Amino acid sequence: MFLLAALASELVASQASGLTSLWPANGILLGLLIASGRDGKDRFAIVLGALVGDLISSVLRDQPLTMMLLFPIANMTEAVGAALLIRVFGGISGAFERTRDVLIFVAACTIAPLFSSIIGAIGMHLAIGAPFREALINWYGAAALSLAIIAPAVIVITRFSETMELSGISRQRIGESLILLGLVAAVAILIFYTSHLPLLFLMLPVALLATFRLRQFGAVASTIIIAAIAARATAEGHGPIAAHGGPHAAGHLLLLQFFLAVNFLSSLPVAAALTQGDRRGEEAHLLADHFKTVVENIGEVIFRTDRKGRWTYLNPAWQALTGYPVAESQGRSWLDWIEEAEAAEFRDWAQPVLDGDVHSTRRLLRFRMLNGDIRWMELSIQTLRDTSGHVVGTTGTLRDIDDRKKLEEHVMSAKRRAEEQAREATLLASTDELTGLANRRAFLRHLERQVEAANEFGWALAVAIFDVDHFKLVNDSHGHAVGDQVLQVVADRSVGVVRSGDLVGRLGGEEFAILMPGASPEDATAVAERLRGMIAGPVDMDGVGLPRVTVSIGIAAHCREQGASDLLAGADRALYAAKSAGRNMVKLAA
Ligand code: GH3
Ligand code: MG
Ligand code: MG
Repeated sequence: MFLLAALASELVASQASGLTSLWPANGILLGLLIASGRDGKDRFAIVLGALVGDLISSVLRDQPLTMMLLFPIANMTEAVGAALLIRVFGGISGAFERTRDVLIFVAACTIAPLFSSIIGAIGMHLAIGAPFREALINWYGAAALSLAIIAPAVIVITRFSETMELSGISRQRIGESLILLGLVAAVAILIFYTSHLPLLFLMLPVALLATFRLRQFGAVASTIIIAAIAARATAEGHGPIAAHGGPHAAGHLLLLQFFLAVNFLSSLPVAAALTQGDRRGEEAHLLADHFKTVVENIGEVIFRTDRKGRWTYLNPAWQALTGYPVAESQGRSWLDWIEEAEAAEFRDWAQPVLDGDVHSTRRLLRFRMLNGDIRWMELSIQTLRDTSGHVVGTTGTLRDIDDRKKLEEHVMSAKRRAEEQAREATLLASTDELTGLANRRAFLRHLERQVEAANEFGWALAVAIFDVDHFKLVNDSHGHAVGDQVLQVVADRSVGVVRSGDLVGRLGGEEFAILMPGASPEDATAVAERLRGMIAGPVDMDGVGLPRVTVSIGIAAHCREQGASDLLAGADRALYAAKSAGRNMVKLAA
């Protein structure tokens, strides 16, 4: 397919025009190379096809051998060289979408013919003795123009659908396209069939109009239309170029090509810039649409305020959250939703952001809802500036964190309760259930600590153990429950007798102990005597008298380096001595 195209174009070119004025084959080749994209196999086929076509056309035209050999080389250098240069410069998009595509393309079309024209001029000089300088200039001019005009046309035609899409031309706009291109044709006919007036300046505005409306398609289609009409008219001797372009037809053709190139290369960047603008506009539109959708459907409140903290924008989440309609809320100050007691502090917090001194900040605060509820919110605000950097207000978000806050509070109170329960459990473990005194374990723990301290610092310490006398009898004659009550009374009375800082504990059964830090043997004996006297007193509970009991008490005073168990054993021995000596008495350990 490519081979045929190249061959045909070569034949057409060689017959339609002279040797030096127009050489469309290389333009077609370059156009095909660019349009083929990145497919290496396609490109190879195109180049090969063009080369074969070139050789065949040389043979058909019966050229001298030097030209037959050098021209194809020059042609390939030109088209393939331009394609390679385009690649070196960073490549161009298929249909000149960006301004830089046009710049790269023009650069390649200007540079590549430098090399081909040297080879071609050498060929012509050697073969037919043409003056080298003239041959060089002729070749260069024809080649550069051919590449610049023909290649874009080929690209746009081979990528027709892409170009149409790019140019935004749908079925509905075909009518407009036809009218515009018809206008281009009419103006071209007017210009190129009017010989007495040089109306060439009229062409560019019309071509630009087509470009403005139809983008790349307009630029290329109008160039092709102008080229067709102008070439025919000029060849027939009509129009300003034939009238003022000198005596030679070749000169006319070169001039015409210059005209077309200037016209085309003025339109193409306009089309590229417009397409780029279209793309950006479309992207901006898509982005704006996307953000609008997000902002309107998000659960968080998104807002803007002016410099005084009055809502200028609230998304629909505002009404869902607070119950207040957006329209009614806009224009009102955010302070309207804050508890009066917190307003002053809130103002101080927000002011630096409203002034632009602090870029952004975040806090928790309580917000009033329409139904009167107060809910915890997380508020973030940022300074909002216009394009010239002046502060215009704030933008930010408002998030309902009330449930989270409540959950946190719930967790905190549950934790506090658990801690309390743990404390109670510890207390329970160290307390005797019946009497509320320290139990044996707790008492011994304290005793040990006190003995350690007394050993370290050398201060006094005494322990008393006391036991209810003949308690078995109480149980036996009054019952166990009464016995328990008696034990409770004994416990209460002993606590009432001791000094603050002393500790009473129940060691087990009807046996108790008192720990007296700082007490000398005399102090301890005095306490014990008071206790003995107190317990022996009458008890009246709910009008029913409890059986009277007595206690025997043994006391031991701490000696330096003595352990807790020795101290306790001493008190126990003294108690035994008190029991043996007849009970209801106090004995001090020896
Ligand atoms: P003494 O100490 O004067 O030698 O005579 P006692 O009758 O008190 O002697 P003993 O130590 O043998 O008896 C103690 C009795 O106390 C035995 C037991 O039934 C009773 N008892 C121990 N714990 C409790 C208790 O918690 N409640 C009641 N009601 N009785 C208890
Ligand atoms: Mg007893
Ligand atoms: Mg006992």
